[in-house]
Amino acid sequence: MDLVVNEQERQTLLDMVEDVAGPEIRKVTILLIDQDEEVTDEFIADELNIKLDEVRKSLYKLHDLEIASFRRIRDKNTGWYIYFWKLLTENINSVVIKKQRAIQWKLMERLQHEKENMFFTCGKKECYRLTFNEAMEYDFICPKCGETLEEFDNTKIIKVLELKIEQIAGKIQDNQKLVRK
Ligand SMILES: [Zn+2]
Repeated sequence: MDLVVNEQERQTLLDMVEDVAGPEIRKVTILLIDQDEEVTDEFIADELNIKLDEVRKSLYKLHDLEIASFRRIRDKNTGWYIYFWKLLTENINSVVIKKQRAIQWKLMERLQHEKENMFFTCGKKECYRLTFNEAMEYDFICPKCGETLEEFDNTKIIKVLELKIEQIAGKIQDNQKLVRK
């Protein structure tokens, strides 16, 4: 894999793939990174001792993310297609950054929503928060349990969102450094 020059960067790439695609994809990605040639889904399933269905699911997810590609040929004897997979290592970083930007954007929208609104709640966990307009529609009575709605202090939620945005911004910055190499 020409993008990755040392073990630390290899780990970073795997973490990024896991971040956007989930932990089960990590194993398959590790195996693909270490292959010099294309491999079949059956080879991966055998090597990792994972069900073929699971391997295929992971591979298609990597394919959706444009991190892996396949080539298929028809087996002349059985008539079935055989799929050969490889990792598109040159795409990994840019794909991951794109995903992380989308996550960051969602968090920022959520933050804006929290900052722009007043929220009301009855205080029960099983009920949900309402915005000021929603609460007004229900005359400040919880539509689920009938208790009075009180103003909800969302300072903590805002702080958590701000922290998450900061963290993901840091990750994006680190990943961009890798791309530039
Ligand atoms: Zn309630």
